[in-house]
Amino acid sequence: MNVKTHQYTGKQILKYTNNSPDVLNKVFYHLYFNAFQPGSEMDVRSRTIEDPDGRVGDRISKLAPNEIGYIKPTMLKQDGKKVNYEVVGTVLEVTLNEPIQPGKNTTFTMEWDAQVPLQIRRSGRDNAEGVAYSMTQWYPKLAEYDFEGWHADPYIAREFHGVWGDFDVKITIDADYTIGGTGYLQNPEIGHGYGAVGQKAVKPKKGKYTWHFKAPKVHDFTWAADNDYIHDIYPGPNGVELHFFYKNNPEIKENWKNLQPKTAEMLTFFNEHIGPYPYKQYSVIQGGDGGMEYAMCTLITGERKFGSLVGVTAHEMAHTWFQFLMATNEARHEWMDEGFTSYISSEAMNVIMDEKSPNPHSGSYRGYTFLANSGKEQPQTTQADRYASNRAYGITAYSKGAVFLAQLGYIIGEENLQKTLNKYYTDWTFKHPTPNDFIRVAEKVSGIELEWYLIDWTQTTNTIDYAVKDVVVQDNGGTKVTLERIGLMPMPIDVDVTYEDGSQEQFYIPLQMMRGEKPNPYPNMKRTQVRDWAWSYPTYEFDIPKGKKVKSLMIDASKRMADINSENNSWGVG
Ligand SMILES: [Zn+2]
Repeated sequence: MNVKTHQYTGKQILKYTNNSPDVLNKVFYHLYFNAFQPGSEMDVRSRTIEDPDGRVGDRISKLAPNEIGYIKPTMLKQDGKKVNYEVVGTVLEVTLNEPIQPGKNTTFTMEWDAQVPLQIRRSGRDNAEGVAYSMTQWYPKLAEYDFEGWHADPYIAREFHGVWGDFDVKITIDADYTIGGTGYLQNPEIGHGYGAVGQKAVKPKKGKYTWHFKAPKVHDFTWAADNDYIHDIYPGPNGVELHFFYKNNPEIKENWKNLQPKTAEMLTFFNEHIGPYPYKQYSVIQGGDGGMEYAMCTLITGERKFGSLVGVTAHEMAHTWFQFLMATNEARHEWMDEGFTSYISSEAMNVIMDEKSPNPHSGSYRGYTFLANSGKEQPQTTQADRYASNRAYGITAYSKGAVFLAQLGYIIGEENLQKTLNKYYTDWTFKHPTPNDFIRVAEKVSGIELEWYLIDWTQTTNTIDYAVKDVVVQDNGGTKVTLERIGLMPMPIDVDVTYEDGSQEQFYIPLQMMRGEKPNPYPNMKRTQVRDWAWSYPTYEFDIPKGKKVKSLMIDASKRMADINSENNSWGVG
């Protein structure tokens, strides 16, 4: 790395195994830095979308030649022989001399010249808080090939999908720069907070150090470097070392110290509520332009209030499970990554920051309801870059995705939801699961059929709207309740009844196509299960036997069913 010109040269040896049953005649690499050039797809999309990301706006169009980003391959060989390639925007298209047969491997050797762009989005130099290098998506990265074919998506706004591998990385940079990132440092004798306390650092050669990292089984390698980083190491659970890299700025030091025990608590929470973190190190690094998850680390902006600093760290760390261990294809199933991450990080924040909210996802429900009622919702199956607006993407991926899990808890019960997350981790770590893989886990755990839930919630914009239509006291003293399904999306219904004497009872109406029932969510409250509601019937009646007088009743008092009109959900309330 030349820290004066912000240019670097790279060499990559990639041993690739074709684990598919197909013969591969081509391969593709991502050249993400090429997005940061005037006229790129990222630039033009940002200048034409109705609500551009404030960090991007028209800034790419104004980059000078020494501020743009690029990766220019200068040589590419397959098993020692030159191959033809073409740079097409952010994708390198390679036509192979020798096809790769199923089960066989081949070795690609590439050399390239690169320039680190001025920080615009995620990666780059000189970010808003003065961090020198945020080196993410900085190398030619092989695209993923799977049962759906190649995923050589151009870099337009977001989302990364990659191939797992064992990384061995050497970075040569001026000796006064501290590096944090993916992987275990192999030569801690260079100092910078690594190695034994009090150990004297070796003398750099020609004023530079070559940092050597190894990262087993990751699908990305990220690093950040600055000549003014403080580097702390804090002991996490199960012997995991937590590393913190932040600017030597008196205004943020206290927050960054207090963040350290909270990060250890988070890791404990995720280990228990998803599954054990399989690496021995995790780093929280000041860098980038907000918060973004990477393998074994995150880059976050650091000049924040304490709650926000903990919140962004919780969110990015939670991504480790959904984006790096399960690693769903987030360009296609963005809700499984951002939504599940939002769900579990909100749960963690509720405990770690002692927020004690009865529903830590209420903000996600509000966001979803707003979008559903706006008429601008697109189905969750939309490719992450092809939403009409950034807002529609954000709410669909994060909020509607979080509600998918919170609402699943309403359908199958909280205990079954917890078991589902643990089993999802056990069954699907390092396997790139699809939506169907997840819902099958939930079905097996709960004994409830859930295809209807997956289809309506994730593949359509059908909405949930159930109503109390009529409540009539009968001649025999009983009460007849008529409910109505107004929205197209089916759901099971909990009706909470409050009697005049103040006691409560829940009436549970399973959806017929569930072919099963959830356990009683409130063992301390009386629950009466009534007959199934078959979806196509627009109305449903049940009787509350004579005895106590009904004062009021409410559909889903827990508010975990995402009913888009809660005005018609109750009778006799308030
Ligand atoms: Zn996220």
